Parts: sequence; structure tokens; C-alpha cells
Amino acid sequence: MELYSEQVNRLTEELGRLPGIGSKSAQRLAYHIINMPKDQVKALAGAIVDAKENVCYCKECYTLTDKEICPICSSNTRDHSTIMVVETPRDLNAYEKTGKYDGVYHVLHGAISPKLGIGQDDIKLKELIVRLRGDVNELIIATNSGVEGEITAMYISKLVKPTGIKVTRIASGIPVGGDLEYIDEVTLLRALEGRVDM
Ligand code: ZN
Repeated sequence: MELYSEQVNRLTEELGRLPGIGSKSAQRLAYHIINMPKDQVKALAGAIVDAKENVCYCKECYTLTDKEICPICSSNTRDHSTIMVVETPRDLNAYEKTGKYDGVYHVLHGAISPKLGIGQDDIKLKELIVRLRGDVNELIIATNSGVEGEITAMYISKLVKPTGIKVTRIASGIPVGGDLEYIDEVTLLRALEGRVDM
């Protein structure tokens, strides 16, 4: 005998596919959604579908945007000759929150990880190299300080150095394995200001 409705099972199953949501949480969320007012449920479902349909990668820096070119890349008050390389749009947001960085970004969407089978072609590295043909003075590598972030930083440094572009790495004030998203703004600024040549 089916204990729950088939629809509830389906909802629970879909929610359970989300990262960080175990089967118990999925069930709790499913019950919560069913008890929500219909308007709110429709707004939630609509927001999910709209985001998926309208959000894309910026054609320059590959962060998430609903325009062809994101507001940072299209701004003429930013220094387009300084590019900070980050792993995710969340890392970009963390640096933007400091309000002290006026260059532009490049979002890799991941890091090289031999362990997880993620190679250089699986992240936005080719796209970065294309951008370096433009007028670039400095490339700041702000990948996370875990093993993957370090491997990625080394790889990029080796690739870019022969071009003569200055390559720097954010300072190691950031704890090993530290996720940029959870580091406070002061620490981020210190890491940025204390960056060293690679
Ligand atoms: Zn952009």
C-alpha cells in the first residue's frame, strides 16, 4: 500500500535531487509547500522556471546574468585591464560586497580536480585565454585555497606567464580549504591587497 500520495512522492523526489537536501528535508519541504497558499506556490514555481529560462552566462566574464553582457562588464567605470579569476558567481558576489575591487572578473565555473575527473576543458579556461588577447595588465587568481583551487591557480599561471601579463595570487590569509563565500569582507580585502606575484 502506498503510504503517501503519488504527487507528494514525486515532489519529495524532485526536491531531494537538490544539493544539500536529504530525504527527510525533502519530505519536510514537500509538506510545507503543500500547506502554502496557492499564490505563493505559483510564485515559487514561476520564479524557478523564469530564472532557468532567462538567466544565462555573461558573454565576457561568464557570470550569471539576465543580459547578454553583465552590468560589471558593461560598466565604463571598471578597470577592464585587471581580471580577477574566481571559481563561482558566489565568489564574485563575495568580492563585489567588499565594494573595493574595481576591475572585472572571469568565472571559471569550477576548478581542475583530478580526483573528480574535472579537467581544464571542463571549466571556462579557453574562454579566459581568449580574453587575454585583449588589453590586459594583470590577472588576479582568486581560486579557493583548497587542493583544486591551488592546482587551478598553478595551471593558469603556467599558461599565462609566457604572454608577459602580470599574474598574481590572492594572499594566503584565507584558511586552507576555505570557501570564499563564507569569509568576511575584511579578510577578503586583506587577501586581495596582499596578493603576490606567481
Ligand atoms: Zn560579465
